[in-house]
Amino acid sequence: MFENLSERLSGVFDRLTRQGALTEDDVRTALREVRVALLEADVSLPVARDFIKRVQAKATGSAVMKSITPGQQVVKIVHDELIATLTGEGDPGKLKIDNPPAPILMVGLQGSGKTTTTAKLARRLKDREGKRVLMASLDTNRPAAMEQLAILGTQIGVDTLPIVAGQTAVQIAKRAKQQATLGGYDVFLLDTAGRLHIDDVLMDEVQAVRDVAAPRETLLVVDGLTGQDAVNVAAEFDGKLGVSGVILTRMDGDGRGGAALSMRAVTGKPIRFVGLGEKTDALEVFDPQRIAGRILGMGDIVALVEKAQETLEVEQAERMMKRFQKGQFNMNDLKGQLEQMMKMGGMQSVMGMMPGMGKMSKQAEAAGFDDKMLRRQVALIDSMTRKERANPALLQASRKKRIAKGAGLEVSELNRLLKQHRQMADMMKKLGKKGMLKQAMGSMF
Ligand code: GDP
Repeated sequence: MFENLSERLSGVFDRLTRQGALTEDDVRTALREVRVALLEADVSLPVARDFIKRVQAKATGSAVMKSITPGQQVVKIVHDELIATLTGEGDPGKLKIDNPPAPILMVGLQGSGKTTTTAKLARRLKDREGKRVLMASLDTNRPAAMEQLAILGTQIGVDTLPIVAGQTAVQIAKRAKQQATLGGYDVFLLDTAGRLHIDDVLMDEVQAVRDVAAPRETLLVVDGLTGQDAVNVAAEFDGKLGVSGVILTRMDGDGRGGAALSMRAVTGKPIRFVGLGEKTDALEVFDPQRIAGRILGMGDIVALVEKAQETLEVEQAERMMKRFQKGQFNMNDLKGQLEQMMKMGGMQSVMGMMPGMGKMSKQAEAAGFDDKMLRRQVALIDSMTRKERANPALLQASRKKRIAKGAGLEVSELNRLLKQHRQMADMMKKLGKKGMLKQAMGSMF
């Protein structure tokens, strides 16, 4: 699902997260690309424009620009805004089915997956909520559709209303209501007739059915692969019938996914479920969090940013940065950095969360850069005196021996740590002079 959009956004964000400090121009350029990606994913223009405007307002705020990880902050803002756009009110999976028998009207175009979805929903209500469910097909034009529902009913163990030839849709709806009441059913699902296109005859018929059935929910089934068309269909059905929710089918295919994003923004209607396959168990409650994650499709970068926010206060980072800019980078600073990495779940975890870093994390492991090494290095620093930590130049042979022994390690390991510290201190000094330190800090997380 969403493969195209996700790949596109990954490219944009990869570039954004690799940079350190961002200018407003950087953000604007990146968001322009996000906008194109959204449009190509068939998100409607006003929705995309509005979305970008909201992200831009949040992303160019001073807190983001000044933070040590501005690129990733922008990614998180995009992610949160996606969720906000996709989220409706209330629990999408909870249908109004109190006061049995509760009528549910299933509407949509022919071929949208309406009959399959009716069976999927019936199965879900029966298996997950223990409801007694009755299904009825009102498609008087297509006897095959009625038989299809009956076959599905037998497969999933849900009763269907016996087919009586020659009845109108309204007559069948009345009979279904009667049977549901007499038979003690909790819910009855009415699978209305679909047409290839919206036409007045169809709408009149469904309206008449709605009037006799008085449904608690009117669920519109739309094909998620049809993108912008799906949104137009939804707007029309809603205008004529008053829809209480949308079910997007074929979200298992490699569709462009824009429909999900536009649907709620344009129609104001919540997406309640998504169809993820042809089988009757391939129906899931719509989960904005999960879909936003899939749209972004970039490892768990949002979790990483949240972790970084929890563990490293921006102020603390800025204090550190000021020290580094003056060329002050002693063993205490190095220890702070090492501990920071451990707090964030260690080297593997930090790297694993970065997009495209999975392979590198394996290489680092092979080279002995692992969490054990982090802990050994911290132990070495702990074994130094305060003076030694502030001024590692003091460390001559006898002190080195004492420190290594104190940490239960070899002097060679201490030498490696000292070399690493010297390299980092040099880099800090150089970068500090060029004003590039902030950038380097950004790329460390
Ligand atoms: P209707 O004309 O709207 O009643 O559509 P059907 O229920 O007959 O479905 C049309 C076709 O779409 C069938 O082959 C279904 O198996 C298929 N279909 C329905 N929902 C999904 C879905 O979520 N994913 C996939 N891949 N196929 C689906």
